[in-house]
Amino acid sequence: MYIVHISSELAPVAKVGGLADVVFGLSRELEVRGNDVEIILPKYDCLWYGEIWGLDNSFGDLWVPWFDGSIHCSVYSGMVHGRKCFFIEPHSSDNFFNRNKFYGEHDDIMRFAFFSRAAIEFLLKSGKRPNIIHCHDWQTGLVPVLLWEIYHNLGMQDQRVVYTIHNFQHQGIHGEPVLNATGLGRPDYYFDRNRLGDDNNPDAINLMKGGIVYSSFVTTVSPKHAWEARYSDQGQGLGHTLAVHDGKFGGVLNGVDYDIWNPEISRFLPHHYDVWNLGGKYANKDALRGRLMLRHEYSPIISYVGRLDHQKGLHLVRHALFYALQRGAQFVLLGSSPDPAVNDEFYHLKNHLNENPDVHIELGFNEQLAHLIYAGSDMVVVPSIFEPCGLTQMIGLRYGSVPIVRAVGGLADTVFDRDYADMPYENRNGYVFHNADFDGIESAMDRAIGLWYDFPREFRRLLSNGMAYDYSWNYPAEHYLAIYHHACA
Ligand code: ADP
Repeated sequence: MYIVHISSELAPVAKVGGLADVVFGLSRELEVRGNDVEIILPKYDCLWYGEIWGLDNSFGDLWVPWFDGSIHCSVYSGMVHGRKCFFIEPHSSDNFFNRNKFYGEHDDIMRFAFFSRAAIEFLLKSGKRPNIIHCHDWQTGLVPVLLWEIYHNLGMQDQRVVYTIHNFQHQGIHGEPVLNATGLGRPDYYFDRNRLGDDNNPDAINLMKGGIVYSSFVTTVSPKHAWEARYSDQGQGLGHTLAVHDGKFGGVLNGVDYDIWNPEISRFLPHHYDVWNLGGKYANKDALRGRLMLRHEYSPIISYVGRLDHQKGLHLVRHALFYALQRGAQFVLLGSSPDPAVNDEFYHLKNHLNENPDVHIELGFNEQLAHLIYAGSDMVVVPSIFEPCGLTQMIGLRYGSVPIVRAVGGLADTVFDRDYADMPYENRNGYVFHNADFDGIESAMDRAIGLWYDFPREFRRLLSNGMAYDYSWNYPAEHYLAIYHHACA
């Protein structure tokens, strides 16, 4: 099959969170299975250019319709760790992708509406006719709308769109201008609630809703989250739309790219190890302490790696830090937020704890340090309020760090409580709690820290159970291929 991903992120060159990992890992696995895969991205000024090979202007003269005129673009091609990518660079005073950041601009909706139109115009003009166009999140929700309403009549009637929702929190809510800009026009038609009209705001259209309504198949990133989105408030207002389109909606658990997230070969680890030989893990723990100036003593390290977003249960992350200290554990946090107020709050915490030899707070994005933290930790906490899939707990499992998670979304699909899960002991791999409050997280941390101190052999057994899990892309890629074939049938 010929598959084109249209995405706002790709690891490692444009990574904010899990979306970037998913587009890379899924593409790789699809290629391994003999499919042709290409990825279209914006040419951000803040791409990690050192990780792109052979960047070259491959389509110099793309004119993308925009409002009453058009914007001239160049399209660059390049390889990102073996993946064939196209980067769209508009030449206009809007400077859509020269903001030194990926998201968080006042005109984000216009920026990615332009990207959506440009990506599909590029497919048309370059003669590319993939079987499947795979789009992701609100940023590319307009692609299936444009395909069906405009490009269908221009020779792209055979293309099918699979649309994956990685996070229902951001849906791309906007007004009439985005319709005028992208050439869709006809507000009466698109504001209809059977099309893009937002269910909560009659004066708005919803790009993610457009993605759901117009795609051949819609997925979210875990079976449990598919259920939550459909039947609880976690669809964030899109539950009704999902109900209407129930027959083409399902959950596919994300995988982890074991070529990158692998303690046996990771280029970011000073010591390699596997489940049979954990010496390297403990050497990494020493290295982590050395690098972060934590004191060397007999105690577990508990860590949090992730975006600092309300979604992640930040009050519980904070509480986990203090509870860890109280229980004689060390705590490492690596995270960042686009919201200055949240960053300030954690800077304040960092300053407050600066002299404490048992805590390190690292604010920023650091892929290399993330690997060392996963490898050097004994446990990772993921106390999310909601979590569509979550990669950190799966990476933690692979690196032998026991996950302590709240039972939501993909966390509930991948972590099984050592003491309470209804399954054989050798399949249990972590600790799970339910209530998003201090008692909840303490109940799980208490058991984890207790096992580490009092029954170290049992703790190692639990950690080995986790390392034996296969959360690679192997099975999810098969699942996506089945969906692609279904969409094309
Ligand atoms: P989300 O997609 O909600 O951000 P996921 O758990 O699905 O969360 O994916 C998070 C990915 O981003 C993981 O690969 C994690 O290691 C990485 N990550 C998040 N924050 C940081 C950071 N500050 N530095 C390095 N890697 C990070």
